[in-house]
Amino acid sequence: MRENWQERFAETPDVLLGARRQRTIVPVLDFAVGGDEFVTMAGPCSVETERQLMATAYHVLSAGARVLRGGAFKPRTSPYAFHGLGLEGLKLLAKAREATGLAVVTEVMSECDVEMVAEYADILQIGSRSMENYTLLEAAARSGRPILLKRGMVATIADYLRSAQVILSSGNPHVILCERGIRTFETAMRNTFDAAGIALLKEVTHLPVIADPSHASGHRDLVPALARIGVAAGADGLLVEVHPDPDKAWSDGEQSLDFAEFDAMMEDLAPWIALRKHSWGQRHTAEARALEAVG
Ligand code: PEP
Ligand code: MN
Repeated sequence: MRENWQERFAETPDVLLGARRQRTIVPVLDFAVGGDEFVTMAGPCSVETERQLMATAYHVLSAGARVLRGGAFKPRTSPYAFHGLGLEGLKLLAKAREATGLAVVTEVMSECDVEMVAEYADILQIGSRSMENYTLLEAAARSGRPILLKRGMVATIADYLRSAQVILSSGNPHVILCERGIRTFETAMRNTFDAAGIALLKEVTHLPVIADPSHASGHRDLVPALARIGVAAGADGLLVEVHPDPDKAWSDGEQSLDFAEFDAMMEDLAPWIALRKHSWGQRHTAEARALEAVG
């Protein structure tokens, strides 16, 4: 018998695609996530210096990115690692937006910082470690900014949908899901990229889904392949770490692309993105017809 996803995830009705099959398109500045445009979000793991951020922003813009990523508040595995520049980092991100026109996505880790981060960011990122912090989710939702909700590293799809439901129930419809790899028994890679998870999320929810090949693999050599898989699985965009000199990065250098590697990845992805646009158009037409039939 065919799985009834609506029944399986009945606990989170607002995230489900449902009979009307109307998908959420999240507006950001002068573009949108979840529509026919594939949206690349790129930048360093952490905001380090003005020079580093500006150089990266101009570069990713020239290669087709729409959004600049960069952490000012960093959740780190080690308590002794760099934890981000905080407000100074947010100000640098805003400066880079002003200079390049790129939108800014950056993580908010505490509900106490939501107001401040929302003042500088166009999209609030909820990190993997915070996915189940419902107080933070509610506060972030109330800011009115679009929310990039990363999947918890040990979260099932049902857990993940519950967190998305919390944001929607708090009155914010603009949720972007992000598959960033999950913990499995495999240790050769930082995480295990759940490409099937992307396909499933696109099948059962109406929310845009993006892929993060950087955290999913933990190795820069694997990032272009995972990005390609993400597009093929149905992702609406990418979140990818790029640094002018990855070996000197203050965080996640081993999984960050340098500028030449980012350019090569974007070039390689172009035909895959064109294919996605074609199938997006077909799906959109089919869904519009189904919608008319429902009345
Ligand atoms: C990040 O995007 O830099 C990050 C910390 O990601 P995650 O929450 O997925 O580990
Ligand atoms: Mn990172």
